[in-house]
Amino acid sequence: MYADLIIKNAREVVTPKGKNDRPAAGSAMSELEVIPGGFVASRGDKIVAVGPSSALGDIETDTQTKVIDAAQGVVIPGLVDPHTHLLFAGGREDEFHMRIDGLGYMEIGRRGGGIGRTVRETRAVGRKGLAERGIAHMWMMALQGTTTVEIKSGYGLSTESEMEMLSVIREISGVSPMGVVSTFLGAHAVPAEFKGQADAFIDLVVEDMLPKVVKSGLATFCDVFCEDGAFTVEQSRRVLAKAAELGMPLKIHGEELANSGGVRLAAELKAVSVDHCNFVSQDDLGLLKKAGTIAVALPATPFFLLAPRYAPARGIIEAGVPLAIATDYNPTASISSMLFVMFLSCLNMKMTPSEVLVAATINAAHALKKAADVGSLEVGKDMDALIMRVDDFRKIPFYVGRSIIDSVVCKGRVVS
Ligand code: ZN
Repeated sequence: MYADLIIKNAREVVTPKGKNDRPAAGSAMSELEVIPGGFVASRGDKIVAVGPSSALGDIETDTQTKVIDAAQGVVIPGLVDPHTHLLFAGGREDEFHMRIDGLGYMEIGRRGGGIGRTVRETRAVGRKGLAERGIAHMWMMALQGTTTVEIKSGYGLSTESEMEMLSVIREISGVSPMGVVSTFLGAHAVPAEFKGQADAFIDLVVEDMLPKVVKSGLATFCDVFCEDGAFTVEQSRRVLAKAAELGMPLKIHGEELANSGGVRLAAELKAVSVDHCNFVSQDDLGLLKKAGTIAVALPATPFFLLAPRYAPARGIIEAGVPLAIATDYNPTASISSMLFVMFLSCLNMKMTPSEVLVAATINAAHALKKAADVGSLEVGKDMDALIMRVDDFRKIPFYVGRSIIDSVVCKGRVVS
């Protein structure tokens, strides 16, 4: 078969395999195929062959075929980041110093910072300025090895502004090399104009925003921030039940700062994923397993917020709940690198290098309902691959902070 791009001379090609129908859970989270001396070949944006170098002779090439020598590096699938807030204007770098001085996340919000501040800055910047910032953030992430990214709205918080955010996500996904999945997060925070009237704001989300979002086709998922200080379980249920009724798959920000019922709601509504899970209980995990909901851990957030409570990855894996990981990149937590998140997951959540690679690829793809296309190096899937300057994939999380990405290939396009 013909290939127009070949990555060859790898020390090893390492990928999840045969996990496209359902996410890996339990011991399957440690299963990876390791092909010593492997290659990956593609035509257009799709992989046409993966195998040992002895099979390279079966691949047809011509003068148009680009051959990349992996120089004995390790080839892995492009990383999938299933939870980001990368589209925003302004910055909240100063809140970093406020946290160092001991202020909590919710207290910073009460003092005029937090999500409310980003909403003001995002509404003010205009469509063009927002798109420029979004594209810059996406390129920054692509160069760090992320080839598929989820982007949430949620800094507009009016019907018009939320629709504009979703429309900008559509626009920038067309000019970026990455794959993009868009999520409507209208219930991210109560905007200033609804202060003290959270229920009235939820009415707006349910009755006005959601029907318009669905009609536009601009968002795949619907998400809510279910937490004390954000929205109650009852308010979150209203939004998600309406979204489900309109045919949208669901996500929930749950159990980030306390056990407030978000995980149980995710199980009840059979959400695709529940994200954060820092305070998930053992009983909750049984419910998640039954519901088939994926837990997405976001270890960069407690790390950055100086709130050292991480999702209990070992308990999640032992309970048989599939686990994915993501950056939660947002204006107040600047970690945009999935490699750094893989490192944190090993160090602070006691995951193994195999588990973090599965969590950052095929399970993350399942959390976006994209596992048929991305998350592993298998024939027929998108040619999203990284060449890593290491001789063993288990060293990838270890070399945190070191520049070990040799090359990033996104949909068959060499982007670095
Ligand atoms: Zn988030």
